Amino acid sequence: MQNKNSRKMANNPRTAVLSIGNELLAGSTLNRNMSLIGQKLAEFGVEPELQISVPDTASKLTEALEILCSKPGLVISTGGLGPTSDDITKKVIATFFGLKLRRDKATEERIRRRVQSYWRNRGAGSIPASVFNQADLIPGAETVPNEVGTAPGFIIRDRKRKVIVLVLPGPPSEAMPMLDRSIEDLVKEAGLPVQSCRRILTSGLPESLVERITEEILDGAPSPLPAYCASADGTRIYLKSKDSKMIEAKALALEKKLGINLITRGAENIFEEIILILKERGQTLSAAESCTGGLLAKRITDIPGSSEVFKGAIVSYDNNIKEKILGVNRKTIQKHGAVSAECAEEMLNGAKKLFNTNALVSITGIAGPGGGTKTKPVGLVFIGTSYRGKCEIRRHVFGGARGQVRERAAATAMNQLKQMILF
Ligand code: ATP
Ligand code: MG
Repeated sequence: MQNKNSRKMANNPRTAVLSIGNELLAGSTLNRNMSLIGQKLAEFGVEPELQISVPDTASKLTEALEILCSKPGLVISTGGLGPTSDDITKKVIATFFGLKLRRDKATEERIRRRVQSYWRNRGAGSIPASVFNQADLIPGAETVPNEVGTAPGFIIRDRKRKVIVLVLPGPPSEAMPMLDRSIEDLVKEAGLPVQSCRRILTSGLPESLVERITEEILDGAPSPLPAYCASADGTRIYLKSKDSKMIEAKALALEKKLGINLITRGAENIFEEIILILKERGQTLSAAESCTGGLLAKRITDIPGSSEVFKGAIVSYDNNIKEKILGVNRKTIQKHGAVSAECAEEMLNGAKKLFNTNALVSITGIAGPGGGTKTKPVGLVFIGTSYRGKCEIRRHVFGGARGQVRERAAATAMNQLKQMILF
């Protein structure tokens, strides 16, 4: 019985991720591909079992391939497909599988068409021969077209090892669309144990409370299995199960229970949701920021189409600017300080005069690490919101380092505004 079980385990296909690049190990580039691949796989309820990062060195890459391809399943690799001498991925992978590279004329022509004006405009003469290394393909490997950059990706199927290797370029903007187009079929082909996965986004609640609410709804049942991912924007809940109908029933119950803290309208975060809510109502938004230094405006203007709603923000970091641009009374600052409910309210009034929008936000606080006192600690932030004549100033004390305080302040301002709009 034990033998039979262990044999079965060994045949269970797995998913592994290979990240190639010196800069990933040196820490100068954050391994965003790994996180994006993980998130993509999560949509199928698949979790990578193993992840290895290696420098652009043939021996290290070969060592990693030996480990990753030692069990059946899917290996997803990124990096090192470009034209420079450090881009060795294709050659090393071909050698590892006992395959050869061959120049593909059609790909060569496509690359020439794509890059010739770039080289001509630079007055650099002819295109360097190394650029065409990207047209060296592995016969028998399936090509994965790259619609953003020049280096195509490819898929190797090793029947003996029962391994499928998807090889993608390094830049996330190139690799992710290629992954999006191929992943569903590969997950099926590799026979990965897929589950349904439902994502629920929340905001304005601590992770522990989100967990408690979720567990109340799931009521100790072994399935669906919950997982949580917290950030300054809020907590994401993932429900995983083989039974998609059961997931849907539980997800609906959970969404109902989360109420105002559920991110709705298909938005990815509270910033996007606020823009969608105001858009529906034909209303506008502006802000007066101090300690967030324009972060709220940045998060909002990250959203395509936000200009329909968002009129602008004043970054009134200095007290003089609070006075001159927003009309905050000098006496208010002298008496209560710039980090005070009174100042937040006057910033709100100043923004109303400048932008005349239906919805307004003001933020003033101490992001740290210095500047805190006993009565006004680091993390103290006053957030003002105003919506169609209503006005509210709330005092918050956020934990965490400078960056987290600022991110939490921006997201909390949006939560406060959402409550004001919807209640
Ligand atoms: P290129 O043609 O741009 O050289 P490539 O496939 O050769 O593409 P690399 O040279 O390894 O890829 O990396 C290109 C760019 O992509 C670099 O800026 C690198 O920092 C970035 N990059 C590579 N791997 C990752 C990763 N795992 N996460 C985030 N960025 C990455
Ligand atoms: Mg490169």
